[in-house]
Amino acid sequence: MNSSPIADLDRLLSEGMVEIANAGDSAAVEHLRVALLGRQGTVTAQLKQIGVQPAELRREFGAAVNRIRDELSQALTEKAAAIAEQERRAAVDAQRIDVTLPGRKRHFGSLHPVTRTLRRIEQIFTRAGFDVAYGPEIEDDFHNFEALNIPKNHPARAMHDTFYVSAETVLRTHTSPVQIRYLESNAPPVAVIAPGRVYRCDSDVTHTPMFHQVEGLAVDSDISFADLKGVLVFFLEEFFERELPVRFRPSFFPFTEPSAEVDMGCVFCEGAGCRICGHNGWIEVLGCGMVHTEVFRQVGIDNELFTGYAFGLGIERLAMLRYEVDDLRLFFENEVSFLSQFA
Ligand SMILES: [Zn+2]
Repeated sequence: MNSSPIADLDRLLSEGMVEIANAGDSAAVEHLRVALLGRQGTVTAQLKQIGVQPAELRREFGAAVNRIRDELSQALTEKAAAIAEQERRAAVDAQRIDVTLPGRKRHFGSLHPVTRTLRRIEQIFTRAGFDVAYGPEIEDDFHNFEALNIPKNHPARAMHDTFYVSAETVLRTHTSPVQIRYLESNAPPVAVIAPGRVYRCDSDVTHTPMFHQVEGLAVDSDISFADLKGVLVFFLEEFFERELPVRFRPSFFPFTEPSAEVDMGCVFCEGAGCRICGHNGWIEVLGCGMVHTEVFRQVGIDNELFTGYAFGLGIERLAMLRYEVDDLRLFFENEVSFLSQFA
C-alpha cells in the first residue's frame, strides 16, 4: 500500500503540513500556497490525475485529493493569519515609546550680537522721536558721493576704498546716501535714522569688507549744534546705561560743516587708561556735524530756512564696546560657541 496513489496523497499532505508549520513569514506562506495549490502546484497536478485513475479507484482518489486540498488550504489560511498577527505585534513593539526616557534637549538660537545692538540703537532713537528709514545697498554715484558734496576726483573718495559695481554704481560705502533719499521724498521737519550694511575694500582686526552703520539726520527751522550734542549724549548714556563724559573734537567730513568726532569716557577703565582706549581714557565712537549747505542745495532745501545735523556710527564698534569683544572678525565667523553667549 505504500506506493498506492492514495498513500502518495497522504504523504503529500503530511509533507505539506510540515512545510506550512515551518514557514517563517508571510512571503514563505504565499510561496507554499503557489507551490501546492497554484496552477502548477503539486496538489493541482493530482487533481488532474483523477480522470486517469482506474474506475474502481476514481471516487476514492478524487475524494482524497479534494480532502487534502481543503486541509492544506485551511492550514495555509490559518498560518497566514497567525503570521500576520505576529508581524503586527512586532511592528507595534518596534514603535513602542519608552515614556521614562529623559526628553531630548532643544537648543534655542539667539539673535546675533550685531542684530541685538542694532535693535537697541533703533529703540533708543525711536523713543527720542526718530523715524527709521532704509535705502539700497547698491547705490548710484550721485547718492553715495555727489549729493554728499564729494564730487568726482574729490580726495575724500580715496578714503572710501569703494567697491565699484560699474562706473556709476557702487556698493554703498556709508549709510549717508539714505539722508539724500529721505530728503528727496520728505519735506522738513525730519528726524530719521538709517541703519544698514555698508561695504569697503578693507580687512584686518578692526575692519571687515562689510559692516553696519547707523546714519542719523534731523532737519528743522531751528536746529543747532546744541541739539546734536544733546541727542548724542542722551543716546550714549542710554546705550551704555550710565553717565559718561563725552567730548566733541573738530574734524572734517565733506557733507557736514562744522564737523566733529565724538569721544566718550572709556567704559573699561572709567578714564584711568587701558589697552582698549590706548591708555588715554577716551574712546572714539562716532562722527557728526551740521548738514553742509551744499547737501541742502542738492536736494532742494532752502538753507536760509532750515538747518540740520547728521551723525554716523558703527554698529559693530558699539557692539564691541558693549559686549567687550576685542576682535571685529568674531562677529562674522559665526562660531556658535561665541554667538550663544549673547542669548
Ligand atoms: Zn580704557
